[in-house]
Amino acid sequence: MRFPLALSAKIAGHIIKHKLRKTPKFAMVLQLEPLHTCNLTCTGCGRIREYSTSLKDIVPLEKCLQAATECDAPMVSICGGEPLIYPKIEELVNGILAQGRIVYVCTNGMFMRKKMKDYLAAIYSPEVETKLKKLLDEGLISDQDADTIRKSDEAARKKTVIRPIRWMYWNVHVDGLEYTHDLIVEREGVFKECVAAIRMAKILGYQTATNTTVYKETHVQEIEDMFRFLSSLEVDAHTISPGYEYDAAKKDMVKRLGKQPEDFFLTRKMTREKFKDMEKWADRFTIIGTRVYQEFLAGKRELTCTAWAIPTYNIKGWKAPCYLMTDGHYNGYQEMLREVKWEKYGVVDGVARDPRCENCMVHCGYDPSGALGTNYQPGDNWKNLKYNFGARPRPYPASPQLFQRAFNGVSVGKGHLAPAKAALKTAGLTQEGADTEFYVQQMKASAAAGASSGANRRSNSEGCGTGDTSQRDELLT
Ligand code: SF4
Ligand code: SF4
Repeated sequence: MRFPLALSAKIAGHIIKHKLRKTPKFAMVLQLEPLHTCNLTCTGCGRIREYSTSLKDIVPLEKCLQAATECDAPMVSICGGEPLIYPKIEELVNGILAQGRIVYVCTNGMFMRKKMKDYLAAIYSPEVETKLKKLLDEGLISDQDADTIRKSDEAARKKTVIRPIRWMYWNVHVDGLEYTHDLIVEREGVFKECVAAIRMAKILGYQTATNTTVYKETHVQEIEDMFRFLSSLEVDAHTISPGYEYDAAKKDMVKRLGKQPEDFFLTRKMTREKFKDMEKWADRFTIIGTRVYQEFLAGKRELTCTAWAIPTYNIKGWKAPCYLMTDGHYNGYQEMLREVKWEKYGVVDGVARDPRCENCMVHCGYDPSGALGTNYQPGDNWKNLKYNFGARPRPYPASPQLFQRAFNGVSVGKGHLAPAKAALKTAGLTQEGADTEFYVQQMKASAAAGASSGANRRSNSEGCGTGDTSQRDELLT
């Protein structure tokens, strides 16, 4: 099956229950933001900018758990900020699992290996040695890490940890291959760390997912290569969503980078162009969502926004109307459902009810619409069932060439900002043209080089870049 039967059945059961009860509005996924602090400063991230005055605040553990109970969504996506910075993240994950919900930990991947080392220390016994050896062989932990795990003390053994169980997924933020991803997250080395974390997670038996936002500068060929590469790592599931110019990110783009939002974000028309092969991707890779939403992204139909089905809870309360746009915060989920004038938002038959919604086709607004039957067309339910309960696509075969195409930036020894600058200087190239040109050049170079994957693996345990974004800012402006 494309996704584990128990998970798909849990979500389908939740929808059927509410349909039978004729519940007008209900939650399918809770976006829980226990904090907004983050170790990165990604371009396009509204969170760290919109909540910049409250980055040190956190939602107490009990309130997080109450929010999950209150909206009763079968799935909770713990995001942020970087949720692995949350001091009680282990207790939060385990608390939500104890409520019988599916947990996605949406992370930028930088602290994942640390959390998995904590897990190994907590469960260490001689049987763990086989896994330690594999992790050492693959360069995913150091000798010192292995020794610390072996010598774990009473405190390490008693520590609450995040364990690999079927109801929990690491959901790693990956916005493209190395060059694009590091450019978007504004730091070199992050892609490499994400890949190392995913490989370690797979060895330890965790379920892994990735989430990708596609921007104007992301080339379609690259999205396909990214899915091939992630599939070769046996990542279990992917979400993909178009990046559009929502308020908080748009303001930052103009103020900090001196760049116009239309140079970076996708309009509706551009989204449809980029996602025209969405259904083909979904046939080949384990993309989460409904067939109906995929048709919507590909420009084959309209949907009405159902943002209330993926509510967001954070330090200020229940955020309305949606994950991206803020017109207010409410104390309770039901209060938010009652008070918000939902009919003021979204795009209906191509006409934006609110101008800020005009270019939005994001999954948190429209993916539930595909499952809930808004704009229903005959055969939709069957299509969605067939997709979600259908056969699982086979992993894409790993190869040195694919590995080399994935690591097309700093790891090939040039530092990815320098060649990007050179590409920009090529006569007549726009920013998008330069990115495309650079990507095509990299693919050609990697095919010619056919370098072994081992060369890249050696540096997996190295630290990430300095965080200095001046080169990148210069490039973008
Ligand atoms: S990792 Fe996530 S929360 Fe942090 S800056 Fe990037 S997008 Fe924002
Ligand atoms: S269309 Fe829906 S999800 Fe998108 S910005 Fe508007 S309210 Fe939010």
